[in-house]
Amino acid sequence: MEKKVPFTLNQAQSWRERFSTPFYVYDESSIRKTVSDVQKAFSWNKGFCECFAVKATPTPAIIRLLASLGCGTDCASVSELTISKACGLEGRKIMLTSNETSDDAYRLAVMCGAIINLDDITQIDVLEKAAGIPDTVCLRYNPGTFSFTSGIMGNLQDSKFGLTKDQIFEAYGILKDKGVKHFGLHCMAASCCLDESYYVLLSELLFNLVVEVRQKLGISIEIVDLGGGIGIPYRTDQKAVDIVSVGEKVRSKYEEILVPNGINVAIYTEMARFITGPSGYLVSSVRGFKHIYKDYAGLDATACDLIRPAMYGAYHHITVLGKEKEPCNQVYDVVGGLRENNDKFAVDRKLPKLEYGDMVVIHDAGAHGRSMGYNYNGMLRCGELLMDEKGDVRLIRRAESLDDLFATFDVDSDFEF
Ligand SMILES: *Cc1c(COP(=O)(O)O)cnc(C)c1O
Repeated sequence: MEKKVPFTLNQAQSWRERFSTPFYVYDESSIRKTVSDVQKAFSWNKGFCECFAVKATPTPAIIRLLASLGCGTDCASVSELTISKACGLEGRKIMLTSNETSDDAYRLAVMCGAIINLDDITQIDVLEKAAGIPDTVCLRYNPGTFSFTSGIMGNLQDSKFGLTKDQIFEAYGILKDKGVKHFGLHCMAASCCLDESYYVLLSELLFNLVVEVRQKLGISIEIVDLGGGIGIPYRTDQKAVDIVSVGEKVRSKYEEILVPNGINVAIYTEMARFITGPSGYLVSSVRGFKHIYKDYAGLDATACDLIRPAMYGAYHHITVLGKEKEPCNQVYDVVGGLRENNDKFAVDRKLPKLEYGDMVVIHDAGAHGRSMGYNYNGMLRCGELLMDEKGDVRLIRRAESLDDLFATFDVDSDFEF
């Protein structure tokens, strides 16, 4: 897929004057378009809800935008639940999918009326003691093997998440005895999967289990949650998933497996990368060069702003603003200023000849980007801008300051920085 930046060098330079690089920019119209495609794909399903995984982009302006479009959220912590609530979400629009869950998270989830997605059979007791058993409970299934398991998630038998099939039956039985009235079934078996049959095969697996649970336990599962995991084409030679076609194929499985059994379920998805990933850009300036055994171009952004290349060796496409038409006849390692040699946004990347101050855009950073930031080497995490249809931006999260970084230190009252 060709990678285009939805703003110009002039725009980026004016933003740099106002906010300084590095910063993230999110393209609102592109997020709206993706959400609308997803909703169209599943419009045949009554009760469909895309619950965006907050961890990917936990900025209230983004969550509020998604909520205004009809999305819910998928949360893993007290802070993610708190953000969801503050963005106006409640009830079945919020999922709590977490493991080693704190009592506080269970209590807040029950208070919000959120759907709690239990990660383990032993959590039934933990939940009961912490917050009582709510009317609605979902279970996270780990099938052990699944043909579309990708690298990041690894072999599902090595995955810490979810219940085995035997435990699923036992847990539904226990929950039914404890008075639970509404049940959900969740499974996430891949991460960043570009194979269009992923959701289709997953829904087949889950729909069959829904039928089996009803036959064996007389329990009607009302929600089937397909989790996240739909990938995006980070590389230009990869193809984007056609979500409308995926939705149609899930519909065929639904009509083949559930409809003849007279079963209706609401489909939930928890896509995050697919929703905001391609709509977010990390914008940075070239701040140095060096030529030793290789050629290096240094940026003012570091892995503290975007850790995916350092953590997973992930590819992120790079555009040099204003040099889109120039030949990519130079080879650079594009690096940040951390004292860690994996702080490289790109290795052996062919780019146009770079100059000091050039504005470099790192693509596909809208999910699991700023949110995975950290403060190693005392780096301050950068701010975030939201760009509207007219190309105007609004600061939706300011960059961190030294005061933010030092705020948690316990120092003597006469200590001064
Ligand atoms: C991370 C995560 C998601 C979102 O994953 P994407 O790959 O970004 O779509 C959804 N659900 C759960 C339980 C997750 O852990």
